Amino acid sequence: MHPRNPTRPIFVGDSRTGIIQIGGGIALDHPLASGLTTPHPIAPVSVQTMTAGYTHTIDQCVAEVHKLTSAGADIVRVAVPEKKDTEALKEILAQTTVPIVADVHFHFKRALEAIEAGVHKIRLNPGNITDRAQVEQVIDACKERSIPIRVGVNEGSIIERKDKQARAKELGAIFGNNKHGYMMAIMIAKLEEYLDIFYERDFYDIAISAKSMDAALVIDAYTEISKRFAHPLHLGVTHAGPKETGCIRSVVALGTLLANGIGDTIRISYANDPIYEVEDGLELLYTLGKRERIGAELIACPTCGRIQVDLFTLVQEVNDKLVEDITVPMKVAVMGCVVNGPGEAEGADVAVFAGDRKGIIYVQGEKVATVSEDDILDRLLDECKSFQSKVLNGEVKLGEKKVDIVPPDPLGELGSGWEKMAASRMGHTPLTIEGE
Ligand code: SF4
Repeated sequence: MHPRNPTRPIFVGDSRTGIIQIGGGIALDHPLASGLTTPHPIAPVSVQTMTAGYTHTIDQCVAEVHKLTSAGADIVRVAVPEKKDTEALKEILAQTTVPIVADVHFHFKRALEAIEAGVHKIRLNPGNITDRAQVEQVIDACKERSIPIRVGVNEGSIIERKDKQARAKELGAIFGNNKHGYMMAIMIAKLEEYLDIFYERDFYDIAISAKSMDAALVIDAYTEISKRFAHPLHLGVTHAGPKETGCIRSVVALGTLLANGIGDTIRISYANDPIYEVEDGLELLYTLGKRERIGAELIACPTCGRIQVDLFTLVQEVNDKLVEDITVPMKVAVMGCVVNGPGEAEGADVAVFAGDRKGIIYVQGEKVATVSEDDILDRLLDECKSFQSKVLNGEVKLGEKKVDIVPPDPLGELGSGWEKMAASRMGHTPLTIEGE
């Protein structure tokens, strides 16, 4: 895992919403550190999403922002394609508790109206506002109010879109030999061109995005951009598709970049409820160790021919309940049997090992109950809640004791026949599983 790239930080939000820092770590003598007087250590990677509903339907928009905030979104973006959307912003900002970004395309006046309404950040693709003076007006208005701007050179917005012949010609040149090479060259050239407009006006509170629907291009483009520009990077695979495939595209691209120290804020985008973008974005960061986990981490076996309970249903129910009830980052394991379970659940604070319509529940290595399949869910959750209380009271520490299973006797306390199961899997390996 590479250390994060240092960048000039930007700050999004106000005293009411709290301020989210994006990026950081730039040396004060760096040319881009103009105006910074104190060092800002690199901030944790933040998670963004965007509302799916209309911004001008204020109540629905506020409800959606609240839902996304509760799911863990650090920043929420809203589209402002029409004046009625920017007119709604003031009321939305008053009723929400998370920094709001106005998503502006084509109409610079929407940006000015959003700034006037008090929005916390502007997303602007200078490529689709053709009049430079209009872009300059937006920059000056943001500078006056210390509002940062995300400059996008996303694949879809840097190619001429109004003139089909020009687009075809440009695409021909781009894809002629090396798709990624040409596209990256255009992205970087456009970025340099756009950033010059900002720098000329002494404006540096900038984040950069260079999204594409092609995950490999996203990796290549952001990698090149991170070498050239010390601004925070907003990562994303745009138009990633439905959640099922979009998740893989996004996680491959964003996970690769983040593991290489590239990226300061992320948005996973799905053709689905944006709450999944937040959940999956957070899980990606937890998995990479880029954010401190909030809530339980569920370990579950994939099941196999040894399974003797309805584990898929149990895992889903446990997952849903843990999200509702558990806030401390305890590890919870739901395993289908005791053959592989103990090893795979190593480090779990609370674990259940299922057998023939039964489950044995362990808390930090100590067996606390053997219950019927029907009672596994409730008892496991009771144990998780009780363990959480002890953690919060300082009576126990997370991960302090490992799961230490002494298997049932050969008849099988679980009724699944330990000796038979172990022999079928491990041949002549001795039956005893030693704990850590
Ligand atoms: S824990 Fe048991 S049931 Fe689950 S996959 Fe492993 S061997 Fe199969």
